[in-house]
Amino acid sequence: MIIDFETLPADAFASKEFDVCIMGAGPAGITLARKLAGKGFSVGLFEGGGLEQSPESQDLYKGPIGAQPYFPLDGARLRFLGGSSNHWGGWTRPLDSYDFEVRGDHPDSGWPIGKADLDPYAAEADGILDLPEHFTPPDMFEGAADTLKPGYFRFSNPTTRFGQKYRAELDASDRISTFVNANLVDIRLEDSRRTVSEAVFRGLKRPGLVPVKAKFFALCLGGIENPRALLNASSQVSAGIGNENDIVGRYFLEHPHLPVGNIVVRKPITFMLVYSPTPEFMKERGILSFGLRLGNFEIAPEGVFTGPFKPQPECSQPFEALLAAAMKGEKPACPAHVGGAFLAAEQGLNPDSRVRLANQRDRFGLRQAELDWNLSEIDFRTIRAAVTEAGRLMAAHDVGRMHVVDWLLTDNEKPTLDQLWGGSHHMGTTRMSDDPKKGVVDRNQRIHSLDNLYVGGSSVFATCGHSNPTYSIVQLTLRLSDHLATRLG
Ligand SMILES: Cc1cc2nc3c(=O)[nH]c(=O)nc-3n(C[C@H](O)[C@H](O)[C@H](O)COP(=O)(O)OP(=O)(O)OC[C@H]3O[C@@H](n4cnc5c(N)ncnc54)[C@H](O)[C@@H]3O)c2cc1C
Repeated sequence: MIIDFETLPADAFASKEFDVCIMGAGPAGITLARKLAGKGFSVGLFEGGGLEQSPESQDLYKGPIGAQPYFPLDGARLRFLGGSSNHWGGWTRPLDSYDFEVRGDHPDSGWPIGKADLDPYAAEADGILDLPEHFTPPDMFEGAADTLKPGYFRFSNPTTRFGQKYRAELDASDRISTFVNANLVDIRLEDSRRTVSEAVFRGLKRPGLVPVKAKFFALCLGGIENPRALLNASSQVSAGIGNENDIVGRYFLEHPHLPVGNIVVRKPITFMLVYSPTPEFMKERGILSFGLRLGNFEIAPEGVFTGPFKPQPECSQPFEALLAAAMKGEKPACPAHVGGAFLAAEQGLNPDSRVRLANQRDRFGLRQAELDWNLSEIDFRTIRAAVTEAGRLMAAHDVGRMHVVDWLLTDNEKPTLDQLWGGSHHMGTTRMSDDPKKGVVDRNQRIHSLDNLYVGGSSVFATCGHSNPTYSIVQLTLRLSDHLATRLG
């Protein structure tokens, strides 16, 4: 059932204990709730926003940003039932197996789990995210390039909006009690400090704190709010919950997104091309992963970038004429032979890239999140290696030519928001590690220092590869539901 939290009496939960209390109803929270209910457990799902977007709820996402330009924090996320899936783009791709591995030239890299731990959840994640079948990606090098390999994305279609897709199911469920306008404002611990005793919520309109008890708690507030909630919960542990080793909020990861140039090709591109580095090339150059996307997106199908581009008449111009026209910036005579080169890259681990508490406070008196996104040398090395290698391969195999944007050819490492931006992918801030000195959660997403507090979502990513995060979030959440079901017995 979906219930407006504002209408409940203050003692509504006085004699109630849920099996699991889930905080936040985005893709992670809703997936976890559905799966646990399907296994027979009672779930309280507490969502801070309402059923629709509202300025009052959205304001709670405000917060300052650091030196590297970023989107306003209340614009980079949505705060109502379904979370940011209400405006996500639907690009999906699982992480690659090497994304989980320790890489010698990338300090602190490596997950305590591997791709094989998430693969069993792939088919179910495909269904949840409304994904098409896998396919063989096109390759302009026809297998001849040995440093870059072709890849692909699948698009959620129709784009899965978790709040819309699962609202009726949540409302009909007798095992899930979904509360909207229920804002997590505190997490309280038993005297032992090893166990969460209650999560504390407030409505937007009425004052008064409402404590909620459960056997297990799962924080699913998104990659910026998860660390913020832990750091703000400082009444019993001054550094914040789970922050014994000063890691909560650190290692914030994004995927730098940037247009890197333009291309002219001999054979028409009829499908978006995606290239990623081989593990050998990454190792040789000391770089991270990336996905280079090539094609003329003006002839892509509406709203969905994969699938055949719109058919174009056969080109009557020789390649050299197309190239000369492109160099002069003229409108292309043959749109399938020209296009953009766009990069989304993995960001390297950097403890100084972080979410911390700002001095400004929200309407509940809680300190806002301050995002200090910090790119480092390895990120720019990765970006430059991606474009120079793609350009080199295109010329060496004579399949086309790439013109690289000027700023990438200089030493400029402070790009503007027009040159480089994030994907609104907020990752790494409660990272997973078996070592409590290197991560906030263990391999089962449990906060190391607590018996019954778990974290869902991309804040648990130990590294981020170049894939958009939501597919892996759903896989991890399905795995978490199995783990919690085992513990609940
Ligand atoms: C514009 C945009 C485009 C994107 N495109 C893609 C894409 O193409 N592919 C992809 O993989 N990812 C994409 N993403 C990222 C994707 O939306 C997120 O990975 C995903 O939504 C994260 O799910 P989540 O459940 O972890 O967090 P969220 O979706 O952030 O959900 C968190 C929930 O917690 C609630 N909440 C927050 N604070 C509180 C509180 N104090 N108390 C109670 N509830 C609270 C929020 O209202 C929200 O419902 C995009 C994001 C944006 C913004």
